[in-house]
Amino acid sequence: MHHPSSHPDICIAGAGIIGLSLALELHHRGHRVTVLDQGDPLAEASAAAAGMLAAQDPDNPPQLRPLADLSLSLYPAFLDRLYNFSGTRVPFQTHTTLQSLHTNHTSPNELTAQDLSHLLPALTPTGHRFILLNEHSLDPRQLAIALLAAVHATTIDLRTHTAILSTRSTNSSIEITTSNGIVHSSRFVDCTGAWATTTSRLSHLQIAPRKGQMVAVALPPSLPLHFVVRTPDIYIVPRTIGPTAGRAIIGATIEDTGFDKSIHPDDIHHLRALAAALLPPLANTPQLEAWSGLRPATPDGLPLLGALPEDPNHLIATGHYRNGILLAPATAHVMAQLLSNEAPSLDLTSFSPDRLVPQTVEVP
Ligand SMILES: Cc1cc2nc3c(=O)[nH]c(=O)nc-3n(C[C@H](O)[C@H](O)[C@H](O)COP(=O)(O)OP(=O)(O)OC[C@H]3O[C@@H](n4cnc5c(N)ncnc54)[C@H](O)[C@@H]3O)c2cc1C
Repeated sequence: MHHPSSHPDICIAGAGIIGLSLALELHHRGHRVTVLDQGDPLAEASAAAAGMLAAQDPDNPPQLRPLADLSLSLYPAFLDRLYNFSGTRVPFQTHTTLQSLHTNHTSPNELTAQDLSHLLPALTPTGHRFILLNEHSLDPRQLAIALLAAVHATTIDLRTHTAILSTRSTNSSIEITTSNGIVHSSRFVDCTGAWATTTSRLSHLQIAPRKGQMVAVALPPSLPLHFVVRTPDIYIVPRTIGPTAGRAIIGATIEDTGFDKSIHPDDIHHLRALAAALLPPLANTPQLEAWSGLRPATPDGLPLLGALPEDPNHLIATGHYRNGILLAPATAHVMAQLLSNEAPSLDLTSFSPDRLVPQTVEVP
């Protein structure tokens, strides 16, 4: 697979939204790309997400904001590219988010009780104060269908059911041992999400899976919800367009339980109770589905983007935690810049794979 050309070949591990978005961007720039996944593509965290592009979520670490804003600015072109390759247009499902303010924060835009009762008569604020954010959401399953079709329409070599077992660097290339034989590549990019600790040796940081359970319910006719409602405890994300229109996603738990993805009725019941406390018409609506996913978490809540300190040909792009759908276009953009030996459009110091995480940082 080694081609000594100005656009060397690149092997990506992991066909989640991060790996496949990067593959498309590299293909666009003329690189030869191979993507390996141990299972089916887009079957892990990327298909489990709610799909909020929550750049302004007050719970995000502040250092994330420039990357989040870059990603928002790239999103329309990213969706256009998916449409051009796949013929499938992924619509935004919502355009606004009703966000609760943190207890000690104030905002000149805080909504009055009257504003709230006009906007969402069913809302029981239960002590929360709210603002409106210009924020979009999309359906990650629709995104997955379009992204996969787009990848299949290119020359990207996607090999599923091919697990990376180990990697070894030689002078100018990387030898990748997989469950289906050995692959040689000029550069290797680890996009295996919550599994990255098993595929990349990291000096200071560890990636850990952090489970989120989710539930989808039917929206009752008395509650035609067209925007996201979010507090620190719960979010309610309606689907408004396409085959799943009329349902709302309620999420999510945050659990450190290793790679276990089991769903527990008690946890689902608790999510539903939190949602119903805010929006009582949700109390008795039919439950449609429950699922879980493993967010790739780092100790400081920031992604890892760049080369490993001991090996410039072994790069990593993971740790997107609660924001991988939001951050995919910007991640693909800056990683493709690094792999094309260009200066990245953003200062990536906060996301350096060899950064030292201060011990005082609170795990988000
Ligand atoms: C419940 C929940 C809700 C979320 N909501 C949102 C949201 O509203 N907005 C948002 O922006 N983000 C959200 N996220 C976060 C987002 O889903 C993740 O940050 C993002 O999907 C991570 O993408 P990824 O490609 O890194 O990982 P993944 O999608 O998990 O992909 C990793 C891939 O690597 C493969 N792999 C693993 N090990 C190997 C190996 N050894 N060899 C080969 N392949 C391997 C896996 O099979 C998998 O396909 C949510 C996540 C969860 C769980």
